Amino acid sequence: MRVLLFSSQHYDQESFTRAASDSTLDLHYQPTRLTLDTAPLAHGYEVVCAFINDELDAQVLQRLAAGGTRLIALRSAGYNHVDLATAQRLGLAVVRVPAYSPHAVAEHAVALILALNRRLHRAYNRTREGDFTLHGLTGFDLHGKTVGVVGTGQIGAAFARIMAGFGCQLLAYDPYPNPELQALGARYMALPDLLREARIISLHCPLTEHTRHLINAQSLNQLQPGAMLINTGRGALVDTPALIDALKSGQLGYLGLDVYEEEAQLFFEDRSDLPLQDDVLARLLTFPNVIITAHQAFLTREALDAIAATTLDNIIRWAAGNPQNLVSG
Ligand code: NAD
Repeated sequence: MRVLLFSSQHYDQESFTRAASDSTLDLHYQPTRLTLDTAPLAHGYEVVCAFINDELDAQVLQRLAAGGTRLIALRSAGYNHVDLATAQRLGLAVVRVPAYSPHAVAEHAVALILALNRRLHRAYNRTREGDFTLHGLTGFDLHGKTVGVVGTGQIGAAFARIMAGFGCQLLAYDPYPNPELQALGARYMALPDLLREARIISLHCPLTEHTRHLINAQSLNQLQPGAMLINTGRGALVDTPALIDALKSGQLGYLGLDVYEEEAQLFFEDRSDLPLQDDVLARLLTFPNVIITAHQAFLTREALDAIAATTLDNIIRWAAGNPQNLVSG
């Protein structure tokens, strides 16, 4: 069976080639993103394997189905970028990787917290320039601080366990409380209360119609002045221009982003020779108390191997008429 992997980077090729060594699947790698313009590349491929910034709207799905595609195998947990109603109507099955390494994402969120707090990005540049001064690098002890976890599923729980290890007090917001967090001593509460009490807030909920711009001008006003916000969930969980206003006023003291609402046109590409056209991102990058990574929280060897293994298993089981991890179909 022919499988086309869109948006496949060299690390995807390595992990998928390794995982497919014993299988009969015929894997083809396409570095380009799936869009309406690139969808014809999938003509004749029964399976299209897509990542988070590939476009899977109604028009793209129609073109894929017309070209003979019958399965969309997502290499991600999130599926907010897929028009599921259209997929259903066209008889296109959609499968995903519900869990690969919650630790990878949770640990990256913690890396952002530590780097922002202890200003590692500034210290790194300073010592490389021979400047060994410490002014402006004062941090705070994480021990005893209050950390709000928004979305306490697999990643939120892994994050909470790490922060509990630092001696932090945990607050949580999720429509479905997780007993594991309660056992760690987390207090579940309404989001506005969490925002008022927490010194650090980390977002780990999916992007849905209910969570789009969950963090906006109004909710940012509820924060303790100087609070830290970490978003490794999805870019549109936050209203980015409102973040800029909150950073300018000092209401937001630290910001760590691994995701950005307009990332699809930018992330995973080397654009260092080109003028940055996105003025919102350009402004964010000027703040000394902001660290942005380009959707790399998932990027560990363990996660890549698990994504490849589950995706291939999803395809093989679907082909055998025994599908698993179905989102639609
Ligand atoms: P999960 O399904 O295990 O947990 C999600 C949790 O969010 C659930 O407990 C759910 O009840 C909760 N939730 C749903 N709606 C909510 C709302 N309105 N408010 C608060 N909580 C809500 O998912 P997970 O594996 O923990 O992943 C969480 C998210 O992380 C994914 O949806 C994805 O967007 C993001 N993610 C990012 C990366 C990355 O590389 N940056 C990688 C993987 C996943």
